[in-house]
Order: sequence, then C-alpha cells, then structure tokens
Amino acid sequence: MDHLQNPLSQISFIEKNYLKKLEKLGLETVRDFLYFFPARYDDFSLLKKIGDLKLNETATIEAKIKSIQNIRTWKKRMTITEASIEDSSGSMRIIWFNQPFLLSNLKEGGTYRFSGKLISDSKGLHLSNPAYETASRLPTNTGRIVPVYSETYGVTSKWLRWKMSQLLKVYLKEIPEIVPNAILKRQKLLGAEEAIKELHFPSSLEKVKEAQKKIAFEEMFLIQLNALRSRKSWEDSKSIQVKFDEKLVKKFVKSLPFKLTNAQKKSSFQIIKDLEKKYPMNRLLEGDVGSGKTVVAAIAALEAMMAGYQTAILAPTEVLARQHFETFGKVLKGFSQKIGLLTTSVSQTFWKKNTKKNFLGKIKRGDIKILIGTHALIQKSVEFNKLALVIIDEQHRFGVNQRAYLQKQTSTLKDGSKNTIPHLLSMTATPIPRTLALAYFGNLDISLLDEMPKGRKKIITKIVTPSKRKEIYDFLRAEIESGRQAFFIFPLIEESEKISGKAATEEHKNLAENIFPDLKIGLLHGRMKPKEKEAVMAKFSAKGGSASGGKNDRIDILVSTSVIEVGVDVPNATIMVIEGSERFGLAQLHQFRGRVGRSDHQSYCFLFTDSTSENTSQRLHALIESEDGFKLAEKDLEIRGPGQFLGTQQSGRPDSAMQYLGDIKLIEQARLEAQSVFALDPKLEKFPVLKEALEKIDKDIHLE
Ligand code: ADP
Ligand code: MG
Repeated sequence: MDHLQNPLSQISFIEKNYLKKLEKLGLETVRDFLYFFPARYDDFSLLKKIGDLKLNETATIEAKIKSIQNIRTWKKRMTITEASIEDSSGSMRIIWFNQPFLLSNLKEGGTYRFSGKLISDSKGLHLSNPAYETASRLPTNTGRIVPVYSETYGVTSKWLRWKMSQLLKVYLKEIPEIVPNAILKRQKLLGAEEAIKELHFPSSLEKVKEAQKKIAFEEMFLIQLNALRSRKSWEDSKSIQVKFDEKLVKKFVKSLPFKLTNAQKKSSFQIIKDLEKKYPMNRLLEGDVGSGKTVVAAIAALEAMMAGYQTAILAPTEVLARQHFETFGKVLKGFSQKIGLLTTSVSQTFWKKNTKKNFLGKIKRGDIKILIGTHALIQKSVEFNKLALVIIDEQHRFGVNQRAYLQKQTSTLKDGSKNTIPHLLSMTATPIPRTLALAYFGNLDISLLDEMPKGRKKIITKIVTPSKRKEIYDFLRAEIESGRQAFFIFPLIEESEKISGKAATEEHKNLAENIFPDLKIGLLHGRMKPKEKEAVMAKFSAKGGSASGGKNDRIDILVSTSVIEVGVDVPNATIMVIEGSERFGLAQLHQFRGRVGRSDHQSYCFLFTDSTSENTSQRLHALIESEDGFKLAEKDLEIRGPGQFLGTQQSGRPDSAMQYLGDIKLIEQARLEAQSVFALDPKLEKFPVLKEALEKIDKDIHLE
C-alpha cells in the first residue's frame, strides 16, 4: 500500500478548514504535499548575540522580551508593535508593522528566537518585522535556512513549514527512490529521502541546490523514459503507407508561383519519407511565422489525396480554417480537388447544395479527400473513410485529448490491413528552444523551417516610451493617409478574456473618440461571436479605406486583444502597435510582429511601454536586435526561465527545479540514462518502482 497516496483529509493534524485551500494549490495527497517545494529560502542560520550584530546583517538571536506594546500612529493610520529584548550581551528594539495580534503571541518575560536583518533608520538601530518563535521549539521559522513557499489561498509559509515537519516525521521513509542505484551513483545524485528532506529542512544552501538537481533529474528521466515508451508503442502500430509519387510532387512544386526554400524542400522530403513507413509518422514541423509551413503541409495532403486517402487538417480558429481552405483550393487547383471545410458556423451556410448530412456522408464515403476545419472536426458525427494523415496547425492550441481523438480514427483497408493509425503532422510557429524540445517532445521527430522565403523586408521595431507616443500617433496617421493599416494590441491584463476584452473595448473608445476621431477603428476580442469576428475581419481585409475618401467602411486600425496572435493575414497592414509590451513574452511579441511585413511596403512594430525596469528594456531590445524566432525563444528562456516560457502554472511544480530544464547537460544526461535503461529492460521488469511512477505520470506530462 502506497501511503503517500493517503488523502490529506485523513491526516488528523491537517485542519479541515484547510482542505479546500490546499486543493486549490493542487495538494490533495500526502505526496502532493511533500512534493510542494519552496519558491525560495531565507538564510537565518547565522546565530548571533545582540552585542555582536552588525548593521545590515541577517541573523537569528535568542532573547528575552523585556517589554512589548502596541502604538497607534494616527498620521499613517497603522499600528506599530514595539518590543525591547535582551540577552547576556545587551538589549535592542524590534518593530513590527500592522500586526497588533502579536501581543497575544509574544509575552513579556518569554524567551524567543528572532530572525531578521538589523537596520538603521529614523527609529535607530532595530530589527524590522523579524520572524519569531518560542526558543524551546525546534527551529522551524527561525534559526535555520527557512523555506519560503508561494503563499496563496490563505496558506502561509509558517503553516506549511509546521505541517511539513509533522508529515515528514511520518512519511519521509516512504519516499520512493525512482532513479536506479547505478544511475544515482554515476550522476552523483542525492537519494530521494535526503533530497526531499533537504528541500524542506535544508542543512545548507549547497544541499538545496543538489536536492533541486536531483528532483529535476528525476522528472526529466521519467519524461524521457515515457517518451521512449510511447515511441516504441507508436512504432508498433500500423499506418496507411503512402508511396512517394515523384512525378506528382515535381508537378506540384513547378505549379507554385515561387521557388521552395531549401528548408521547405528538406522538410517536405522528411515528411514524404515518413508517409511511406509502416508505422505512423509523428512529426512536428516547426517554423517561424511566415516561413511557409502551409505549402509543406499541402505537399503531404496532395500525396495522400492522389493515392486515394483522406487528410484531416485541424486549425485553431475559424479565420485560420477558412484561410487554409482558400489557400489549399488555390495551390491544388491543377489537381483533382476534393476539399471540404467544416466549422461550426460555416458548415450550414457554405455548403449550400449539401445539407450537413449529405456533407458528412461525403466524408464518410471518402469523396472529400482533404477536410479542413476547426474543433468541429472532432465530433462523433464526423466519420472518415480512409484517413491516412492528420495535420494539426498551431498544435499548442489544442489539448492532448483533442489531438489524440483524430489519431484514434482507425481505418480498415481493402487489402485486409486493419486498424491503421493516421500519420500525424503537427505544426507550430512557436519556436521551441532545443532544450525544451528535447525535454518535452522526446518522442517526436522534428522538421525545422529555419529559413525565410527570399525578399522579405526587415520590419522596423522601436521601443516607445510615454513621451514619444504623440510622435508615433502622428506617424501612424501619415501612414494611414497613404493607404496603410494598423493593429493595436492590448495585453491580457487579467487572466480572463472577459476583462481584457473590456480593456480593449475602453481603449478602442479612447482611440476612436479622442485620438483618431477621423479614422475608422475596429475592435476584435475573444468574447465576440464567431460571426462578429468574421465581419470585423472582413472589414479589415477590404479594399478602400480612409485614404480613398472613406467611401466604404474599411477599418483603418484594428484594436485587439491577443486573439489576433495566430493566423491573421492582411498584407496591407504594415503597423503593429503593442501596448504594455512588457507584459508579453518575447516569443509572443515576435508572433504579433509577424502579422505585419507581409507586403512590399515597409512595415513597423512599435513596442509601447511605461516600464523602466532593466529586465524589460533588455527583453524588448532583444526583439529589436533579432528577427529570428528561435534566437528570441532562447533569450526568453534565459531571461524568464522555462516555467514562464511554457506558461505552466506553478501548480506545486518545483519552480526551482524547473530552472534546471534550461540546463541542456542535465537533460542530455537524463536522456542517455533513460535510453540505457530502456535498451536493457524495455518493460522495466527489474524496476518496479520506476514502472509504477511512470504509469502515474503518464497522463500529465504533455506540454499543453
Ligand atoms: P506560416 O509558416 O506562418 O504558416 P505561410 O505558409 O502562411 O506561413 O506562408 C506565408 C506566406 O509566404 C504565404 O503567402 C505563402 O504563399 C508565402 N510563401 C511560402 N513559401 C514561399 C517561398 N518559398 N517563397 C516565397 N513565398 C512563399
Ligand atoms: Mg500558418
């Protein structure tokens, strides 16, 4: 019986009124609790006498309280608790702000440990807001290296430390060692028990580092093993083999209005080769915004279509699905076209001659060879005939289950081959640094479009401080008068699109009424209905505009939340203004910038910011210096750390251990060790603990 799986509700010393709060932190079992790691540490391990304390020194002293009282200051409307303390070497003062309840915890004549920094201000030398605890108690909140947990939902670090010490007493011995012994030795890693103990009750900061490394290694080792296993089972399954039709591909490439880049050729060939294999492809096509992923996808879909099979193409938004439908229609014009579009709002109106039922019938019979759509594709009512290939655009926009759904669409072929699994091509414009790709996509093959089509103009990028706003507004007006268009992006101020939608609505009003009353300003945000969004996009993509006397109602400036990030393609828009740009990650800013620079006109990206912090300036400058999405992603990883980069909530995942995910060496070592274990014992029969751990995490290590 695995006691670590005991629910916290069964632990007598965890107060019942805490259970809900802990649940919000993602802590439901003993294991969750013990694996909830500190965000940082305060080093209170230096023990001193009052007489030896130095200015600005952080230390712990043990002393008796001579007097303690609350003083109300009317001017600043706060309560100051002032204590006078003494030990054998002298006496000193302590001041706490706004904690009048301290009087009931700290008694005159009692002896306590106090930890804090000795400071000097108008009140003279004193400790300000020190941590404290009764001297007779084992050092928990003072007198040691004290862990500081991220305090949310009313769960304090103090409480967590106290409960952690109680839980560890009972359960420390039960912490399983997942990493095989030989590897622990080879990699010079702490044992599991020691690592957990050191993280919550450190003996030194060096040990904390070692413990974090152990946890990171363990996590990475599991991820890598998991990847190897899923790859193996993937390779054991069967696919529809699509034979390379050289003539066909040559004809297609010739029909394009441009020459493929070398990167496009190389990636296409990798995909063509994969399609020929007995087991399904599982490949990620990674390429910066505008690097030309769509044509590569089209080659794969064309091959499948001409061999008589079906392809499903999944796009995250209506706008994008429709765009793909048009593009595919265009580039595949010279070939037998059996392309369909299925989105929730389009399916009825678009296929006028077909009822939806008819249309679904065509898919089921296999008459529609390339089906492009949004989430509407992922429904029971949509059945395929011979689905050979699934292409997922902007794959990070889809959940694991949604992606897995299409993968489960098995086909039975005439030659008797049964239950084939479609080839999978995922596409992303989010450049994933090599370390993270290794860490999270260990079971994928990756094709890179690391080369832009020729002849693109460099986008001029500028940081705009508040004093320069007016200048930029004037410049923008001049550009619009000469026929161009602009985007204004507002950051997601709160988590919810509802609130940021409101912010964008207000900004839209401000721009339309106060700044550009003579121009046409449109608004787009995630809370609008698909039809409304489409109508706005149509007005933005229209010809005409204020420059041509405003005869139609083309939008000059489109105000939007970050929903604009994917897909939108309006070549006449040449100016991208990003408000509060410091709030976005570099990779995302780069995506926004990629919305302009799509025509012969010079394009601009203005990064508005009020922030004067060094970090912001460093990040935004990186954007000016580089147009390379991959370099920017690496930079983001360096500056903000992988947790931020992946957008993972801090759900108890050791943020400190996450830091190590930026450590390519650790990842590579974990990968090598996982490979050696897997090669020896793929079923992990000799490693039952490891096997069990793998089965547990199987579900939640995918990158969302
Ligand atoms: P993304 O990788 O962002 O999805 P797209 O596939 O939408 O990029 O391509 C962006 C634009 O570049 C499209 O208008 C496409 O026709 C064009 N394009 C693609 N490949 C080339 C190429 N080799 N040379 C010139 N233009 C290209
Ligand atoms: Mg694209």
